[in-house]
Parts: sequence; C-alpha cells; structure tokens
Amino acid sequence: MIDSKKLIKEYGLTANKALGQNFLVDENAILSIVELSECSGKSVLEIGPGLGALTGELIKSAKNVVCIEIDSAMCELLKKTLDGAENLDIVNRDILKVKNDELSSLLGEGFTVCANLPYYITSDITMKLADSALCISRMTLMMQQEAAEHFLASPKQKCYTPVSVISQRYYSICEKLRLSPSSYYPEPAVHSSVLVFKRNEKPYDPAFSRLVKTAFSMRRKTLRNNLASLYDKSLVPAIIERAGLAPSCRAEELTVSEFEALLEAANAELLSRD
Ligand code: SAM
Repeated sequence: MIDSKKLIKEYGLTANKALGQNFLVDENAILSIVELSECSGKSVLEIGPGLGALTGELIKSAKNVVCIEIDSAMCELLKKTLDGAENLDIVNRDILKVKNDELSSLLGEGFTVCANLPYYITSDITMKLADSALCISRMTLMMQQEAAEHFLASPKQKCYTPVSVISQRYYSICEKLRLSPSSYYPEPAVHSSVLVFKRNEKPYDPAFSRLVKTAFSMRRKTLRNNLASLYDKSLVPAIIERAGLAPSCRAEELTVSEFEALLEAANAELLSRD
C-alpha cells in the first residue's frame, strides 16, 4: 500500500496547506473507503489523488481510474510510483475548470466517484457533480464533518441549504465512516466523514436547482417574496397554493418532495396562463 508520509519524506516534499493537502495514512480507512466505493469493474473518477493512497487500491479492481489533480508535483510522483498501471489516467488540472462533457469523454457513459476531497472546495466539487446531468451511479466522498452536515441536513436545521435539497433530490446520502485527525498526515484541525451518495432514477432537471436556489436566496424572507424574482409576482400565491403549501412558509421548512411539488405547481400554473 502507498505510504504517503514515507513518500513525502523520501522526496523532500511539503504538503501544500492552501491546496488542502492532508494525506490519508490510515490503512484501515483507505481499505474501507475503497470497499465503500464498490469500484470493481467500474470507471472511477478520483479527484485529488495526491500521492495515490486511494489510487493505488482503486486500480487493483476498477476497470479504469481517471485522476484529476491540480498539483503537478503530485502528478509527476504518481506517474513514478504507479508506473505501468494500464488502467490509470492522470490529468493535471483543476477539477473546477474541467467541463462536465470533458469528464464524460474521459470516463465514458456511467461512472463512479471516489475522493478524499480538498476541504477548501468540498461543496463546489460535490455540487459540480451532484447538480449535473453526469451519469454518476455512486460517489464515495471524504470531507470535513461540518461540510458533511449540509448534505445530510433535514428541513429547519441551520445547515439545511440548497446544497442539501439539490443533492438529496438525486442521491440517497449516508454517512458511513468518521475519521479523526490522526488518520491524516499532516493532521488537520477537524474531524472528517465519509459519505456515500447513491444515485436514484430521477432525471436531472436544471429548473429544480434554479427554483431551490431562488427560494433560499434571502433566508429571512418568505418563499412568496423570494419566488417573485423567478416568476411573475401575480402568479406566486397561486403556485404556492397549488403546491399545497402555507402562504407564509419559508424555503428552510420545505422537504425535497415539497420542492418537487412546488416545481410541478409552477409548471402547471405557467401552462394554464399561456
Ligand atoms: N487522495 C489523497 C489522499 O487521500 O491521501 C490526497 C487528498 S488531499 C485531502 C486533496 C488533494 O486534492 C490534494 O492532492 C490536492 O493537491 C488536490 N487538489 C486541491 N485542489 C484541487 C483542485 N482544484 N483540483 C484537483 N485537485 C485538487
């Protein structure tokens, strides 16, 4: 198994804090995450492979692994240590700048994701993947516990945000592992969680994301006020009533199904006024 701490010392590297470089050094955690990813025979996208702690295990059973890593020094070292793996592609890019159709052409139709995410852009990366039409069947993502709470949140909780609603519409999300700072080198100041996102059958609809983001745009305002920036103001009360919601409700109180009912009601109301 790849020993990131040993490699750092051997090659005189320093972990780049700004890039969220906290490397996984807990062998049991590495094996558990790879097992949770159910990568056997699959195409796998790994974001931020670093020194390859997960990569080295993923390539043993995945059909192919595409790694996207921003740090060129990590990419060079990975090429050395995992040299000869025919099912591995290492791409030296910023994941947030890789377009989704590029991801599809690198990975083919239908893939899974496994990553120990850089903490400073956890939500951006997760939502780039979850709030998209990409064909992803499963994501196994390690992240800071505080970020994980947003993906697991229920209505009325403080961390219930558009991220919660949009990701929960398309994925059933479970926390499978909790890790303490000692599982990493260097040790971060925070605890981490491993979440598994399992895709459901619902087709992707960008109108849903638009609606949810608008509904939450000003948290202290009612749904009725926020929706007036998306739909004709005179239609909003009828949309809310058609969805079976109270006129004074706020976005943070609504379940995913209630947001779905709201979108359906808006579509029906717009159609009836045409
Ligand atoms: N997978 C390795 C492990 O578990 O030991 C490293 C995980 S470390 C938490 C996050 C990795 O993401 C680092 O290797 C870092 O260089 C990389 N990274 C940071 N920002 C990135 C970005 N925008 N695009 C791609 N990789 C990024």
